[in-house]
Order: sequence, then C-alpha cells, then structure tokens
Amino acid sequence: MSGSREPGSGGASVDVVVVGAGFAGLSAAERLASMGRSVLVVEGRDRVGGRSLSGEVAGVKVDLGATWVARRHTAVRDLASRVGCTTTGQFDQGRNVLWMAGRRRTYSGTIPKVSPAALVDMARMQMAVNKLVSAVDVDAAWESPKASRLDAISFGEWLDRKNALPSTRALMTVISKVQWGCTPSDVSLLHAVRYIRAAGGIDHMLDVEGGQQQDRLVETTQEIAKRVAEKLGDRVRLGAPVRRIAQDDNGVAVHTDSGEIHARYGIVTAAPAHRAAIAFDPALPAQAEGLTRTWRMGVLSKAFAAYEVPFWRAGGLSGEAVTDTGTVFITFDVSPAHSGPGVLMAFCDPRVFDGFSPETRRDRVIQQLADLYGPQARNPIDYVDHCWGSEPFAPGGPNPAVAPYATTSYGRALTEPHGRIHWAGTETAGEWAGTMNGAVLTGQRAAERVAALLSRDVREGALR
Ligand SMILES: Cc1cc2nc3c(=O)[nH]c(=O)nc-3n(C[C@H](O)[C@H](O)[C@H](O)COP(=O)(O)OP(=O)(O)OC[C@H]3O[C@@H](n4cnc5c(N)ncnc54)[C@H](O)[C@@H]3O)c2cc1C
Repeated sequence: MSGSREPGSGGASVDVVVVGAGFAGLSAAERLASMGRSVLVVEGRDRVGGRSLSGEVAGVKVDLGATWVARRHTAVRDLASRVGCTTTGQFDQGRNVLWMAGRRRTYSGTIPKVSPAALVDMARMQMAVNKLVSAVDVDAAWESPKASRLDAISFGEWLDRKNALPSTRALMTVISKVQWGCTPSDVSLLHAVRYIRAAGGIDHMLDVEGGQQQDRLVETTQEIAKRVAEKLGDRVRLGAPVRRIAQDDNGVAVHTDSGEIHARYGIVTAAPAHRAAIAFDPALPAQAEGLTRTWRMGVLSKAFAAYEVPFWRAGGLSGEAVTDTGTVFITFDVSPAHSGPGVLMAFCDPRVFDGFSPETRRDRVIQQLADLYGPQARNPIDYVDHCWGSEPFAPGGPNPAVAPYATTSYGRALTEPHGRIHWAGTETAGEWAGTMNGAVLTGQRAAERVAALLSRDVREGALR
C-alpha cells in the first residue's frame, strides 16, 4: 500500500470504515455494529445527517433538507421508530393555489384543473411517462432495452417532441426542480424515468395522501440521524473529510484531516459527484471515474416563513401552491398545530435565489407568498432559508442532475466495488433511489455484503 502503513499497524484499526454519516453511512454502521463488527464512520462535515438538516423558525423545528416519508418507506420508518421518532401527516385539507402564466386560481386534488385541454394533455403525458417507466429496470436502467434511446435526449427534449402543452410542461418543470434540482432540459430522459420508477411511479411521486409526501417527522428527519449517531457513540468521527483511500490485499487505509484509519474494508456513501474529491490508490477504473465527473449534483433551496397562525386555513386553503412565476415554485403547510405558529415551506429556484443577499432572498419569498396567500403573508414573525448549492462541503441536492449519455456510459459503476471499497448511498439504490429510504436500504445492504466478506476471510484464513 503506497505511502501508508499496513492495516492494524497504527492509527485507528477497525473491520470496516464507513465514509459519510448520512442515512446510508449511519445505517451501514448500525447494521455492522449489530453484527459484532468493529466500525468507524468518518464524516467531513461537523454534523451528521448529510442531506437531512434541521432548522428553526419561530421556535418550530423544520426540515431544511429531506422532509417526507411515504407509507411504503418502511426502512426509514423502522429506523425512526427504533430511535423514538414519530411521524405526522402532511396537512393537505382545503384548496391548493395555482399561479401560472400570470393568473391565480385555486383547485383541489393533486393535478391542477387549469382547463379541459390542459387536463387531457396532462393525462396524456402521465400515460406516456408511465409507459416509459414500466420499460425501465430500476436496478440496471442502462441495460433496459430502450436505454440508449432514452439516454440520448433530455426530459425537456422529450416534452418538446411530444408537443406537451405549456401547462403540462410547467408542471413537469416543477417535478424536475424538486426531484433533480434542475430544469427538464438538464436531465436525461432515462435518468428521469429511472427515478420516477424508483419513487413508485409518477402518481406515488406526486401524491400527498398515500404518496411520497404522506408524512413528516415531528422531530425532523435529521433528528433520526442524530439519535442513531448517539447510539453509535465514538464510532462516529465528525470534521474528518476523507482525502485519500489506499488499498492493498490486506485492507484499506483511509486518510482524513484528523488522522488515518485502517480497516479490512471500506464503504463509501458519498454521492457520486463527491467521490471525485477522494484520491483513490489504486485509481478508480475509467468508468467509475467518469461517473464522478458526469453525475453532477442538482441544486435546490428552501425557505420557511412563520406566522402567528396558519391564516390560509381559515380561507379554505391547504398551504399547497404551485407557481411558474419567480423564485418560489411550490409551497406546503408544515405548521405544527392549527393553533399556530403557521409555517409555510417554500421550494426556491436557486438560479433566482442563491446569488442574492439574505435580505433580498427573504423579500422575494415573502412577496411571492403574499401573491399566493394574500396580504397577511407580508408580515411573518420569523423566516429562515437554506441554499444546498452553497454548502461548503459536499454541496448540492436533493439528487444528481444527470445529463444525457451519462447513465448508459457510467451507470454500471454506481455499485461495482473497487477492490475492498464498496459503495452505498441513495444513488446506488434501485427502488427508492433519491430518498432517505433508499439510502437506509443501501447502507444495510453494503454492511451485509462486507460482513459476509469478513466471515469469508476468516474461514479462508483458518483453512490456510
Ligand atoms: C432540499 C432537499 C429535500 C429533500 N427531500 C426529501 C424528502 O422529502 N424525502 C426523502 O426521502 N428524501 C429527500 N431528500 C433526499 C435525501 O435527503 C437523500 O436521499 C438522503 O438523505 C441521502 O442520504 P445518503 O446517506 O445517501 O447521502 P448524504 O445524505 O449525502 O450523506 C453522505 C455523507 O457523506 C459525507 N461525505 C461526502 N464526501 C465525504 C468525504 N470525502 N469525506 C467524509 N465525508 C464525506 C457528506 O458530508 C454526507 O454527510 C431531499 C434532499 C434535499 C437536499
């Protein structure tokens, strides 16, 4: 092993070192520890949770990153309940607001009833998406029969070819911004379809009741990660960015800013784009290296405005809005109780948000909330926002915005181990890729795979 000591010859020495203390890394460590394996998690940030982060507005804890769990997200739900976290239904009583093409109206249900023609077109495009979704293998999208064709164009080009009406296109743009942190023209059709399939189909992806936005965590999602990390104790090391991982036939040496760790195996949970910041010795094969270059992270920002009470409810509004005008493009009501405080969560387009001063960002959001919900929205009692693209370490999210050709060229490298280094993280999931649930499943799977290899090594050692 060039430039490093043998495993066990100095620094910390464990069975498995896990890179990243998000849901994947913590789940991997939890599973390994429960199997009696020694494990150390190294995290570059000074906190756990990764793309899950708690904030506070008017004394209410809010999710600046990941928020919702679906009923079918059983892995993350199990994890939450094991550490005593609880869910609450996403409020969706009342009419939703739609502000499109300069016109405000209200509607009920998931899909805005803009006009009969728009409804027919939306149904037509949903059917077309569903047809593509059913033809894609969620575990190996790049091997699907139509993979090359679907990866040769962007989601946006496909909408053009299908002559999608502007209203359908506007809604697909909202989906794209929320899911991949980019516009439809920046994401490959194959990648989009793979993620829609992973999310349980387009209806499950969009729905509140029975869908992906079904429940929130009362304590916030990062609290789950914090409690798991607490149980792991000194097996989690924060503020330890991994700069280099060397390996030989005996094990891996992981070089961090706060020391070197030796282990038999490594599990790296960093998103594909963030793997690029680690120097691997021996180097990653060309396909794995290409993955780190081309699976760039999308970017999304969120803002929360708090009021004495959720005043929109009195006007029969759900707090759910979709708009194509300005910075905010979708809102939800995340108030803790009917009696208040009332909290609106707004998804913001980073292109018309992140570059502004904190005051301008706030003004833009509040102005838009006033357009959507009336003058009472002008006077919040508190406000907070978070720009994921401006994170100093491992920036971006919610998910990679993968351009055409990158999935068929490099997708296979998502999960292919590099010697003693195994990969986990939500991007490596088949079903539920892009969610906390996917992250938990991949962490657990990687832990079991590596634990089996450790057992095999012991058996083979005993035979020698
Ligand atoms: C705004 C936003 C909204 C979202 N909404 C939802 C939602 O409602 N529901 C849902 O299920 N999901 C949602 N997600 C997605 C969800 O957050 C992720 O799918 C999930 O948290 C990913 O977990 P992970 O462990 O795979 O990766 P991460 O959370 O990214 O964890 C990886 C960790 O590795 C660390 N790391 C990276 N490189 C290194 C290195 N070199 N050395 C050491 N550490 C390193 C990172 O700092 C990070 O902590 C959202 C995400 C965002 C940003």
